Amino acid sequence: MAEALGHPRYGYYTCRDPLGSDGDFITAPEISQMFGELIGLWCAAVWQAIGGPDPVNLVELGPGRGTLIADGLRASARTVPEFANALRLHLVETSPVLRDRQRRAVAPIRPRIRPAWHRSLSSVPRSPALMVANEFFDALPVRQYVRATDGWRERMVGLSPDDGRFRFVSGPVVAPDEVPAADAGGEGDLVEVCQDGNATAEAIGERVASDGGAALIIDYGHPRSAPGDTLQAVRRHAFDDVLDRPGEADLTHHVDFEALARAATAAGARPYGPVPQGVFLGRLGIEHRAANLLRSATPEQAVDIRAALRRLVHPREMGDLFKAFAIARPDDPPPPGFD
Ligand code: SAH
Repeated sequence: MAEALGHPRYGYYTCRDPLGSDGDFITAPEISQMFGELIGLWCAAVWQAIGGPDPVNLVELGPGRGTLIADGLRASARTVPEFANALRLHLVETSPVLRDRQRRAVAPIRPRIRPAWHRSLSSVPRSPALMVANEFFDALPVRQYVRATDGWRERMVGLSPDDGRFRFVSGPVVAPDEVPAADAGGEGDLVEVCQDGNATAEAIGERVASDGGAALIIDYGHPRSAPGDTLQAVRRHAFDDVLDRPGEADLTHHVDFEALARAATAAGARPYGPVPQGVFLGRLGIEHRAANLLRSATPEQAVDIRAALRRLVHPREMGDLFKAFAIARPDDPPPPGFD
């Protein structure tokens, strides 16, 4: 999964901008400006609640086309200009194609902001920070383990001797401490472990606890750790076989929010949520923002705004599967949307 997505030459994210209607998938910030605006205001509100540290880092992990951060910066500069003046923008992005899109997305913003790019959170300078990640954790590679008669075995990728194509094969039995809740479950159960995701949540928790700030993570996933194969491939807005076209299809897994919460707690921070995206955006006032936009909209724009609102919040669209999760300091007030 790591190679298929991140290979320096052939990786899915290395070679292309996968987003949008002519790409492979579409994300919440690409559906409507309301999404990034509300998240920008969330950051500004948390910043005020923790005493307005200046300077403060605004960090986005996996910013895609930069749409969320551009909309968020515009909205927060309008309403909390002191926040816009205090922030230093750090973008964690491995894809050269998407870094270029992000550069162009933030270029027109005033006051001018010069982002610094990083390959991982570890090189972002230490400072109080607001951190945001939308559909980032689902792209981090997972290991899968299957319960066999003789113990847990890693599910690995090999070549079929018949046709030379990739197929799943069973690896050697692993030590029980590699698999969470190794003594639970029955034969045939499959569990996933996202080491990169857990390590990132731990690093975020450690930064929040010692430097101050908070993080907002939005992604599809489950609130409790549970067995199940969630690895999936998406190409041109349809599901694809996960092994068929490495580097040409997006590979994701469902985020295990309980595992992220455990990692953040172990680092001394406090997890909040996950709260369904529809509920979270409702609490941040998305209906009001939509009503406001509708007041100056043409009839065609009004149709788009209503459709986007529904797509973001309706439980049968993105409202329930997607979840908002926050990491904050134990002694700070709960972040907006989590109280
Ligand atoms: N947040 C954006 C894009 C989501 S797609 C949106 O909501 O539209 C996933 C993003 O994470 C892309 O920008 C991709 O290049 C980036 N990404 C994936 N794996 C990464 C990794 N290991 N390190 C840094 N960025 C990564």
